[in-house]
Amino acid sequence: MTSNAPDTVKREPLVFHQPDITELEIESVVKTLRSGWLTSGPMTQEFEKRFSETIQAQHALAVTSCTAALHLALEALGIGPGDEVIVPTLTFTATAEAVMYLGATPVISDVCPRTMLMRLEDIEALVTEKTKAIMPVHVAGLPVDLDPILEFAKEKGIAIVEDAAHALPAKYKGRWIGSISDLTCFSFYATKTMTTGEGGMLTTSREDYAKRVKIMRQHGIDRDAWSRDSSVFAWQYEVIESGFKYNMPDVNAAIGVAQLKRLDEMWKRRTQISNIYFDILKDCSEIELPSKPAHANSQHSWHLFAIKVLENSPLNRNQLSQALKEQEVPTSVHWIPLHMQPFYKNRFGCKESDFPNGSFLGNSILSLPISSKLTDDDVAFVAETLVSTLKRK
Ligand SMILES: *Cc1c(COP(=O)(O)O)cnc(C)c1O
Repeated sequence: MTSNAPDTVKREPLVFHQPDITELEIESVVKTLRSGWLTSGPMTQEFEKRFSETIQAQHALAVTSCTAALHLALEALGIGPGDEVIVPTLTFTATAEAVMYLGATPVISDVCPRTMLMRLEDIEALVTEKTKAIMPVHVAGLPVDLDPILEFAKEKGIAIVEDAAHALPAKYKGRWIGSISDLTCFSFYATKTMTTGEGGMLTTSREDYAKRVKIMRQHGIDRDAWSRDSSVFAWQYEVIESGFKYNMPDVNAAIGVAQLKRLDEMWKRRTQISNIYFDILKDCSEIELPSKPAHANSQHSWHLFAIKVLENSPLNRNQLSQALKEQEVPTSVHWIPLHMQPFYKNRFGCKESDFPNGSFLGNSILSLPISSKLTDDDVAFVAETLVSTLKRK
């Protein structure tokens, strides 16, 4: 009990994700709480303005979640029953769920076994005359190779809705994700690269989509029609559609405004952490390290650091995750692919053999902690424990 040998000092157990919240966020929220305005108002407007400036998007519209943004984006495109939308199997269920909110059908594509991303070659064969949109997902924050997909989609008259829940701040060939295709959706869920507790943002360069989303996120109410005429009462408004309740409150936007100021600092920290992992794990032949952007002037957001546990590893993915857990190293899986989930198997008859790459990833990927709150020491502990666990067998 009285030993003071350094190797008996117990570490604080690591948690997989710790939100990176400072006094800046706390003060911003307190200011909003004292201001007398809690729902969507001046803070939400400021957040949208700063967000659009940060990633050079024409319009940024704050909503309650990325799922809401995906729903509104597909709605703005007029997608409905009978339409098909192509989604990758390696994504969170929200991507495909938003398609089903509108009564349309998600068509699931396989992905690249290395990058884990959607590729044109995987989606070409899935296109029919019913295909209305393609939803690239920038898994882990690595940008999808958008140009071939955008070119193909333009030729076919198919829309693109990017699920950029992981891709802030990420760049593809010199342009920020969120400033490239017609509609891009971001998440500020508690574990994402920046948070508002819960929240999301839709960016678009199209005036018509921006107008539609503004109306539909707040009960189908057209405020612009009245605000143009200053002689009418403040209580007057027109319901022009059956909309949704997806507006972001100022309390959440207050967190967002502060987090946005720290976006670059938090990104730099996650990049440092990824470099430590690459350095310590580079000679580990039992695992594959994450892909880096393939194009010049591109940027990984490093939302996740996902390794793949290879065939020659003495422990499979689940055994490795368990062995690490026993040594207080938390890991996670992003994700069990859609085609391996009971709902998608039952509804769409997905078979694992139809998605060879997705099935490989579903059984081999493992996310290591990469929260900006981790110390160098924490990261080295995770990486060294991983190495020693693989060598131990
Ligand atoms: C987190 C996530 C979502 C959902 O985001 P919410 O803001 O929680 O709705 C959607 N797509 C992907 C790829 C995600 O990781």
